[in-house]
Amino acid sequence: QKRKGKRLYYNVMDESRAFFEQNLWSEPGRAARQYLLEREIDEETARRFGLGYAPDAWQGLLDHLATKKMSPRLVERAGLAMPRSSGNGHYDRFRHRIVFPIVDIWDHTLGFGGRTIAANDEAPKYINSPETKFYTKGSELYGLHAAKRAIQKAGYALLVEGNFDVICLHSKGIETAVAPMGTAFTEEQARLLERYCERVVIAFDGDEAGEEATVRCLKSFAATKLEPLVIRFDELEDPDTFVRRRGASALFEKVENAQPLVAWALDRILRPAEGDNIDRKIAALQDVAELLDGINNTLIWEHYAQEVSRRLTIAPEFLKDYLRRPKQLASQARKAVLQSHRPLEIQAAEY
Ligand code: ATP
Ligand code: MN
Ligand code: MN
Ligand code: MN
Repeated sequence: QKRKGKRLYYNVMDESRAFFEQNLWSEPGRAARQYLLEREIDEETARRFGLGYAPDAWQGLLDHLATKKMSPRLVERAGLAMPRSSGNGHYDRFRHRIVFPIVDIWDHTLGFGGRTIAANDEAPKYINSPETKFYTKGSELYGLHAAKRAIQKAGYALLVEGNFDVICLHSKGIETAVAPMGTAFTEEQARLLERYCERVVIAFDGDEAGEEATVRCLKSFAATKLEPLVIRFDELEDPDTFVRRRGASALFEKVENAQPLVAWALDRILRPAEGDNIDRKIAALQDVAELLDGINNTLIWEHYAQEVSRRLTIAPEFLKDYLRRPKQLASQARKAVLQSHRPLEIQAAEY
């Protein structure tokens, strides 16, 4: 039953993908092709990623799939159509958008991302397929199927934010780029990369959101063998705009000089705390404690603790005592909680 459902799901995805692609490369796709041209995406790259165009109509896809005996209910279950809020019938989820098939490492199409090509900003810039029984967002990385061999060869993956970053970089010969597509980078995605490489170079957008997303990657790498590194861009830049402006070699240069994620995160905490303001130092110490708590290697822990001591001008003995204490307190607290709960468990067992 489940296998049949899966087969049907893949069929809907494949038919939809073919429909979108057919639209891009024929008359309805004229504006979409112009859009790709302006973003310097060549036809070969667009075809390699199976890019398509969802026409500017309410049921272009639905009508097409109906000719393949696929019902609106089925298309809805696949996440590609929604029921109309008033009256009967369904309408297409993706309209007047460039669509990006999201494929797994075996090249099955699991869903789509879509970017509007409308000039006004009435429609949201991006929409994505919802999660379904066969598509979990945190388990896939956009572009991995196209990138995996290059990643294996290079020994590292370039982790970028968006679909266009991936496609632009590939078109410029940087074929190690993959993206989590707007959702947080998960440990599962890190495990996926672990099969192909030893290092991951995080290359998120230069804005504050990109910086915060970079910090949040820390915990996803913690339990893996991967070595996370970071490169950063100017405030208004992302890998796509950077490479188009400065060329692939400028990006490779950044990758050569990538900083370890922990060192970068530590620097980010310490920078505003250097100087004489004691309140800033105390605030920074709490973040430092949390950051270093995730480091199991004592040599590395020691290395960073020394840097903190030097940059915040805090005596090393005092600092280490301070940094270790939150941990002790936490484990004491856990013990206390456990003990206070035991009688309840015993009570429960007696019933
Ligand atoms: P552009 O096409 O303008 O270059 P971008 O890729 O730089 O867009 P960002 O705003 O940096 O866009 O977002 C990064 C990625 O996050 C997008 O490629 C998309 O996959 C995802 N994303 C962005 N906004 C949304 C949204 N509103 N809903 C769902 N996903 C989104
Ligand atoms: Mn962004
Ligand atoms: Mn961006
Ligand atoms: Mn962009």
